[in-house]
Amino acid sequence: MRKLGSGSLVIATHNAGKLKEISALLDPYGVKCISAGSLGLPEPAETGTTFAQNALIKARAAAEASGLAALADDSGLSVAALGGRPGVYTADWAERQWFEGPPGRDWYMAMGKVEGVLAELGPDVDRAAAFHCVLALAWPDGDYAVYEGRCDGSLTWPPRGTLGFGYDPVFVPTGAAQTFAEIAPEAKHAISHRADAFAKLVAAQFG
Ligand code: IMP
Repeated sequence: MRKLGSGSLVIATHNAGKLKEISALLDPYGVKCISAGSLGLPEPAETGTTFAQNALIKARAAAEASGLAALADDSGLSVAALGGRPGVYTADWAERQWFEGPPGRDWYMAMGKVEGVLAELGPDVDRAAAFHCVLALAWPDGDYAVYEGRCDGSLTWPPRGTLGFGYDPVFVPTGAAQTFAEIAPEAKHAISHRADAFAKLVAAQFG
């Protein structure tokens, strides 16, 4: 299996928060992270139908354009009773329509949409859900590796808690009583889908 080793790695995200988080995770392994934004790389359209496809699209585009190894992630929420939706469209479900207010994302509205379609299935509907995070590493010669992380849980309503982001206030991880938005960030980071994917990447690349 191809190994990264120490050196420069392009992080294929234009999200400053993700760059900071990923840089901190890889710093102990001597990896110097460079953002795709700082290299002026364009953001490819996420046309895949799976998290892995979208993560690979982003990692490959950055590796080809920069000539360096690149890492990208794709994440979202899948609800079992909804056949995995919203899945790769998790962020899109938060996008406001013209009649819903100013352009942008509204996570409260998105959580309400998920609850709405779930409630239509009846009071005894299976509320199982999982957060997914897929990390894709791509090299300029076309080689690649994919690491899939997940965190299982169930959806609750109404939303609870003020911490975290996105769908955290309605997600209760398996074995817990509180939502991701009610538990300390360190506790979330220890069990999250992102932590699971990173643990797999670190074990494979630096273990
Ligand atoms: P992307 O990976 O940046 O495309 O984002 C996918 C979407 O999934 C995010 O905008 C969030 O709404 C949602 N999501 C991913 N991870 C989490 C999480 O840890 N908590 C809550 N929502 C999340």
